[in-house]
Amino acid sequence: MSILRDTLVVALIVVYVISKKTTFEMTYGFLKAEVIAGFINNLVLLFTIIFISYEAVLRLINPEEVKGLYVIIFGFLAFLINLFSAVILKTHHHEGENHHHHEDLNIKAAYLHLLSDAILSLAVVVGGLFIYLFSVYWIDPVLSIIFVIYILKEVTKALKENYHILMEGVPEKIDLKSLISELEKNFPEVLEIHDIHIWAVSSNDVYLSAHIVVKNLSEFDVLLERLEKFFSEKGITHITVQPEKPDKKCQILH
Ligand SMILES: [Zn+2]
Ligand SMILES: [Zn+2]
Repeated sequence: MSILRDTLVVALIVVYVISKKTTFEMTYGFLKAEVIAGFINNLVLLFTIIFISYEAVLRLINPEEVKGLYVIIFGFLAFLINLFSAVILKTHHHEGENHHHHEDLNIKAAYLHLLSDAILSLAVVVGGLFIYLFSVYWIDPVLSIIFVIYILKEVTKALKENYHILMEGVPEKIDLKSLISELEKNFPEVLEIHDIHIWAVSSNDVYLSAHIVVKNLSEFDVLLERLEKFFSEKGITHITVQPEKPDKKCQILH
């Protein structure tokens, strides 16, 4: 159960780190530490799964004699501990309605760890029962393999989410293509939009930067107000817009 301990230690460090305010060195604050931790957690879990599969296949080919009663006792204790921890984590997490969304990914990874450990423990108990009663030694690796298939889907999904944020991908809730076409429809005074970037530092903090070509720069303040409203309705909380004239577009190649 060393995964459990590591996960909890990482989760605690992350909760401490992301509570720190922004500094002159770290202008985004420390919210991304949660994503990095989640990525590492899931990677460790993935390697654990690979190791469990490898062991299971070995034991399937060469069934080893196992003391059934010890397996049942150990498995049941581990199951209780893991389930208890998972329930505590889940109820604690949903206690406050105003909990921060940026904690979600990491709590999810920790919860996933606990739950996977609990399920593995339960598989051990069931396997132990069969071994104890019928001396069916191959049942243990088979249960391990079922567990591995079940949890692998969750882990790869969580890893993809972590990777997407680390790569500054456009948040899933935003469809950039339709956002641009909606913008062109609602803002005829915008002649062109380029160098547009949307990225998330946490689930709550979504950034946008863009160059906007307009005919009349003197009316930009009115346009900016409407743009701020438009983007904030899309869940973009920080916007930086560079106005440009059609004859004096930026010389930087995008
Ligand atoms: Zn501002
Ligand atoms: Zn430009």
